[in-house]
Amino acid sequence: MNTAILWFRSDLRLADNLALHAALSRAERVVPVFVHAPAEAGRWPAGAASRWWLHHSLEALAAELGARGAPLLLLHGPSAVALVTLARTLRAGAVFWNRSYEPQARARDAEVASALAAEGVGTETFAGALLAEPASVATQSGTPFRVFTPFWRACQTVLDGIGPPIAAPVSIPGRADVATALPLAALDLLPQRGWAGGFPRYFTPGEAGAQARLADFLDESVADYAEHRDRPDLPGSSRLSPPLHFGELSPRQVLWAARSAALAPGRSGRARGTDSYVRQLGWREFAHHLLHHFPHSAEQPLNAAFASFPWRDERALLEAWQRGETGIPLVDAGMRELWHTGWMHNRVRMVVASLLTKNLGLHWLDGARWFHDTLLDADLANNTLGWQWVAGCGADAAPYYRIFNPMRQCERFDPQRAYLRRWLPELAALPDEWLHRPAEAPTRVLADAGIELGGAYPKPVVDLKSSRARALEAWSNMRGSLPGAEASSAESD
Ligand code: FAD
Repeated sequence: MNTAILWFRSDLRLADNLALHAALSRAERVVPVFVHAPAEAGRWPAGAASRWWLHHSLEALAAELGARGAPLLLLHGPSAVALVTLARTLRAGAVFWNRSYEPQARARDAEVASALAAEGVGTETFAGALLAEPASVATQSGTPFRVFTPFWRACQTVLDGIGPPIAAPVSIPGRADVATALPLAALDLLPQRGWAGGFPRYFTPGEAGAQARLADFLDESVADYAEHRDRPDLPGSSRLSPPLHFGELSPRQVLWAARSAALAPGRSGRARGTDSYVRQLGWREFAHHLLHHFPHSAEQPLNAAFASFPWRDERALLEAWQRGETGIPLVDAGMRELWHTGWMHNRVRMVVASLLTKNLGLHWLDGARWFHDTLLDADLANNTLGWQWVAGCGADAAPYYRIFNPMRQCERFDPQRAYLRRWLPELAALPDEWLHRPAEAPTRVLADAGIELGGAYPKPVVDLKSSRARALEAWSNMRGSLPGAEASSAESD
């Protein structure tokens, strides 16, 4: 074949890119293209934070491709029209891409494939976004899994067969007659306001940034991952969720690098840390498995009993939560971390989601939409799983009586209150004993620290104890006599 088109989507990398590798082996020339078509993502187009990441990741990808001889072509959608027109212009023999698993992406890909077929252009697609493609893992009766542990056990056979990642090509023979149709700025991805200005302090979009972060994590943190991953005050987790979402790294690269680091001589604990880390990658696999098999779950609870749950609709409470002004320090710290860095620690995500859905009684979709707009790693599958797990309405959800107590979570996971002091400087002068529960602090302690609740820092917008009791009642009404109901009031996180 003379010319192949390589369609980049959520796989913005050159290394371990099976579609790129195949296109290079089959065609003399490869034309890489990215089609910007937000309308094709249905009700979940990329949020503001994701668009910021996409802009910088495309910039990095274009530089790498240009240096290898094949400039990245940017086009506006619809994808089918853009790719058919391009294939016709170039007389391309085929379009190559790596498969996506989100419902809207699958529908779009099917439409693109049939439009190209009608034009006589072939398509070749490859795996690469997951360790185990959703259709490759099933229960013994052939149905999708709904519980994580057996799902992950079933994935082990697939994992054992995963080969090493492929290196990035040294050169990519492109076509000299292809002009860069659109400048990156024409995609209008960057936010108008200066809100994202702090993100580069925490993250470097692009394949090189992702590889550097992976190497740092494996070198410095993986040995302690099992002990530190729940600590928001420590740099204990990998922060690779945005690169994994955008495909700047494949999960196979992460798996191989982690397993190699575990075998290398050096710090003890790496093997244990690696096992624990790879299990987290398993949750990512599980999330995609669920969304693939239950595509309605992005909008509807997987547990159908919750379809009629009486969620509250209180804009003022939602806005207090979004702004990090609930008067509950761990929640406010998390929401401010999200606003300033585009990321939030997993433990704190669970705490803020629990407050929103259980104590405030607001719809999990209200929280999911805010996360989708503000997280750099916003990912429909992972976000849906996370929110439904905490709200108790998903597959393999947290037991309904699990309502996180933000004070207790702080005592366990932010023992010196370093995380709170970082994000809530107005409370920093309070002693550790009261910092995570200023509303309970004696007046004198508050006065000594120069703090007036309802002034620089708000009073709590909700009483945790009574709202917890209300939530337990509402949830147990919903779930009736499901197993675990009796244990309800004893459990407290
Ligand atoms: P690490 O601990 O280093 O884990 C390694 C990788 O495993 C992560 O990068 C991620 O790809 C995957 N992973 C880890 N935990 C989970 C999990 N619980 N579910 C699925 N994958 C996981 N993750 C997203 O990537 N995008 C989201 O939009 C998202 N929304 C969430 C919403 C809620 C309410 C909750 C509770 C969790 C959400 N998560 C989401 C999962 C998790 O919080 C993040 O993946 C994790 O915090 C990313 O940080 P890390 O890369 O340092 O994770």
